[in-house]
Amino acid sequence: MKKFKCIVFGIFLVCTFILPVSYCNAEETTTTTEANNSKVYDLQQDAFKYYQVEHKGALGIPVSYSCTESEAGDIRKYTVEPNYSESIDGNKVEILISQVNVTGESDNFDSVLKDNKYIKNIKLDKLDNNTAKVDIETSGKLNVKINPVKRRYSSLGDNKYEFKTFIDVTFEEKVKDNSNIIIIDPGHGGSELGATDNFTYEKQLNLDISKRVKENLEKAGYRIYITRDNDSNVGLLDRTDPANLLNADLFFCIHNNSLPLDVNMQSVYMFRGTTVLYNSTAPKPGREFATILMREVSSTIKTNTYPLQDRPNLAVLSSAWCPAVLMETTVECDDGDAKMMMHRLNSQKVADASLRAVNKYFIK
Ligand SMILES: [Zn+2]
Repeated sequence: MKKFKCIVFGIFLVCTFILPVSYCNAEETTTTTEANNSKVYDLQQDAFKYYQVEHKGALGIPVSYSCTESEAGDIRKYTVEPNYSESIDGNKVEILISQVNVTGESDNFDSVLKDNKYIKNIKLDKLDNNTAKVDIETSGKLNVKINPVKRRYSSLGDNKYEFKTFIDVTFEEKVKDNSNIIIIDPGHGGSELGATDNFTYEKQLNLDISKRVKENLEKAGYRIYITRDNDSNVGLLDRTDPANLLNADLFFCIHNNSLPLDVNMQSVYMFRGTTVLYNSTAPKPGREFATILMREVSSTIKTNTYPLQDRPNLAVLSSAWCPAVLMETTVECDDGDAKMMMHRLNSQKVADASLRAVNKYFIK
């Protein structure tokens, strides 16, 4: 009997390491890896970006810089340090940027200024290829801080590299607001359906849970930015840029899992339930929150659990500089999990458990 138990346990271990136990987001792993080969491909880095939460706004001025590996030394450690000078006079902010290419254009300033609480006007003057001036008119007296965001780079071939990053301009009201900033990221959306087993569109389920998590956390006093609040496509780095530009305290991505079509029912049964993904190589790994979250959610909705997944190559986990997790709430190809999540009551239970987990994480 003991021998039999050992064999069963051995099979379980083999399955654990061989099966891709987070399948619904597999497409994301092919797009970008920071830890694997330090490449991040994403064209959405060439636009001015603006994000806002209670008492704080953040403008990202996109910059790029090209160099050879010999110029950069250790390419993985190289950081773009744009030269810039700032002058702040009342509600006028002038930033002169040199030695890098400001890649963004003024064509999306209308969307930057829409519903913008802190910026009344913005102007871009490209003085030459490597020098630009950004003039910002703020609405009222604000604390304005300017910092470069950590680098991202991609290979241009021929031993040439391009670094893309932002100069981050934050605007904070003079009121002191120490409440934590959390980015909620509902997985998939728009043409990206996610898991589609058992008559479910994962993108819809993720959004339903995420909106409830947002409402719960806002009521509890956290400052929340949600990466989508409708059925729209969101670029991979558009998910983590708000975390980096707003200097968020937590990035919380919400998914429901699937498994490859050729996996047998026994495996589906084994991998039903809840797990949480994190990145052990991140500057601030999310493992601690992942542990609390998995326990809280699985014990609330009574799901099976399987071990936390260390996934350093996953785009959203490798490009956020704050603790980041991706929750696979349930597995939609399992009949039991799928049936349970058809009841919106259980989405609410997941949201309530998420609030308890966040509280436990921040209130130590
Ligand atoms: Zn997913």
